[in-house]
Amino acid sequence: ADTAHKICSDRVIGSIGVAVKELVENSLDAGASSITVRLKGYGLDSIEVVDNGRGVKDSDFETLAKSFHTSKLSTFSDLDSVGTFGFRGEALSSLCRVCDGMEVVTRHETSGVTVKLKYNASGELEEKIEVAGEAVGTKVTLKTLFGTLPVRRKIFQDKSQLEFAKALNLLHAYCIILEKVKFQVFHQVADGKENKKLVFTNGTSVKNNLIQVLGNKLVQNLLEINCDGSHSNFEVKGFISSCAHDSGRRVPDKQYFYLNTRPVDMPQISKAINNVYKQFNKNQFPLVVLNVTTKESDSFDVNLAPDKRSVIIRDQKMLQTLIEDLLNKLYENIPS
Ligand code: ADP
Ligand code: MG
Repeated sequence: ADTAHKICSDRVIGSIGVAVKELVENSLDAGASSITVRLKGYGLDSIEVVDNGRGVKDSDFETLAKSFHTSKLSTFSDLDSVGTFGFRGEALSSLCRVCDGMEVVTRHETSGVTVKLKYNASGELEEKIEVAGEAVGTKVTLKTLFGTLPVRRKIFQDKSQLEFAKALNLLHAYCIILEKVKFQVFHQVADGKENKKLVFTNGTSVKNNLIQVLGNKLVQNLLEINCDGSHSNFEVKGFISSCAHDSGRRVPDKQYFYLNTRPVDMPQISKAINNVYKQFNKNQFPLVVLNVTTKESDSFDVNLAPDKRSVIIRDQKMLQTLIEDLLNKLYENIPS
């Protein structure tokens, strides 16, 4: 059974990016307004996420990293309308199984003490000690990622920079969209090397976040997309490269899609957008930030994949046509 779970977890936590994403989503679920991510050795040596959320309750210490333990779902019918990122309770247990120990330092908002908790690979609480008082919030540290899976670790070491770039791009998606969360991301290649600050957003507006993440140069030529939901089920807002300028993208690597501000993949929408863009600017891809809002919770399903990136939209074709029309109008009105 343990092996089965290991294989299973290995699939859920299939990359450094997914590991970081799960920790960040837990911080957001805890109501954090400030999140600091510290990566070491491209995320393979350690991943640490510090937040100022409400902290972990005493009663959750034992079960925190047990399979399917979650404090977020109260009744089964809640599954239809989950407002939080997590609700399956499998992230921390899966993370424990693929790293050499997870450490949680936390102080709950109702508690006067800070505790340090250590979990083993099976997600069992092995140590609990009080530590010097810190602010309310949580710090989760994962040590030696894929340390329990030597073959997998070797594969990741061989492509560490590529996987790191992917993880960073995933983090960018969160940094960009969150208007009330301050984000900081640090990376240290190895002990004794410089601890580089890679991202800093102060969560004021999406535009400001974008400038902080991608730089002024890329952002200054973006056009705003703003389509209220009065003519359809969808409200579509965001930014896209102007076709009259150099978008700076030879590959569609800077495209961020959101459903109700939740970062998701929208491969079909991305393809449709790239096709429209191609008509106006042949050899480039647009930078895209697109938040699709829909008020009807039964019009989409984000619960398909364990990593919750994929999404099924009921009126996918309608949304696609809406966006294509929107972009065609936008670009036809801009002299090139
Ligand atoms: P899920 O997010 O699906 O509930 P996880 O395995 O990601 O499952 O987390 C398990 C539980 O641990 C959460 O339900 C929450 O109670 C607690 N938890 C994890 N991270 C944090 C955090 N940063 N702050 C407060 N509580 C946390
Ligand atoms: Mg979670």
